[in-house]
Amino acid sequence: MDFRSDTVTQPTPAMREAMANAPVGDDVYGDDPTVNELEQWAAERHGFEAALFTTSGTQANLLGLMAHCQRGDEYLCGQQAHNYKYEAGGAAVLGSIQPQPIENNPDGTLDFAKLKAAIKPDDSHFARTKLLSLENTINGKVLPLSYLAEARKFVDENGLSLHLDGARVYNAAAALDVDVKEIAQHFDSMTICLSKGLAAPIGSLLLGSSAFIERARRLRKMVGGGMRQAGILAAAGKLALTEQVAQLKVDHANANKLALGLNDIAGFHVNTNFVQTNIVFAKLDDSININAVAESLSIDGITITPGNPIRFVTHKDISSTDVDTLLQKIRTLVG
Ligand SMILES: *Cc1c(COP(=O)(O)O)cnc(C)c1O
Repeated sequence: MDFRSDTVTQPTPAMREAMANAPVGDDVYGDDPTVNELEQWAAERHGFEAALFTTSGTQANLLGLMAHCQRGDEYLCGQQAHNYKYEAGGAAVLGSIQPQPIENNPDGTLDFAKLKAAIKPDDSHFARTKLLSLENTINGKVLPLSYLAEARKFVDENGLSLHLDGARVYNAAAALDVDVKEIAQHFDSMTICLSKGLAAPIGSLLLGSSAFIERARRLRKMVGGGMRQAGILAAAGKLALTEQVAQLKVDHANANKLALGLNDIAGFHVNTNFVQTNIVFAKLDDSININAVAESLSIDGITITPGNPIRFVTHKDISSTDVDTLLQKIRTLVG
């Protein structure tokens, strides 16, 4: 049982079969029918003109930021944003794009007054503010649909474009019980990670206008992301977005159960208001030696990442019974 992340999910038997049988071609020539089918289907499915299959979510975000921004432009984002904090500074290193982070509110949103104040005037002292990048879910939290509508209004009023790091946007849609298009409709571009809770082995998508995706396609080649018979991966990616979507509600129920169970253990504190999808953060009292807990669990084949707060992630390879087992073992270890 691996609670570190939903990236550990194994591909399903259906994915392995689809991968074995996928018709393929050289995708750099545009010849891979399975990639082409996924890109066309995904664009339409999410309400965009075009889509691009990428090696990873990090690459999809990088290409997105670079396709929106030129050298010396900047993007507004959250201090906690994956595409600011956890992508090795790629936009700055490879795109010469300046991030302008804003402190995230506790619910993951960004305050519009603070964003407004961060937009630079048209003056040679400043980078040119071009883009607002949001993330949904962010640390497992769902941005309200009303907030997304406000964000659209904000960028329209300020001449910016709007990007969504939607690595886990299907978790957001599942939590809100809406079609993913309800979220996607507000954005000029969006990424989707196929290889997290949706269980594909590799791959993400970048979605946007045809011209935007054409720029991103060139950039993808530049950073070495032009893959050849990539239909083997795209075949699994299609199943991620069809057969695996229903699993996310199960993952969310398991996360909720885990959160409530942890709150019953002395020394563990979960703010259940923020357990909205498949990620649980628990704050630990000093009495808890989490490294020792992690070591004991690992002997029983249970993997966690020790930390305070500690993060647990549920996914299709964690069952409700597995959650019971984890809780019981932690109770025994710290009781
Ligand atoms: C995982 C993740 C990414 C990056 O995806 P990789 O495929 O791991 O590169 C981007 N944004 C968010 C919010 C993520 O959780």
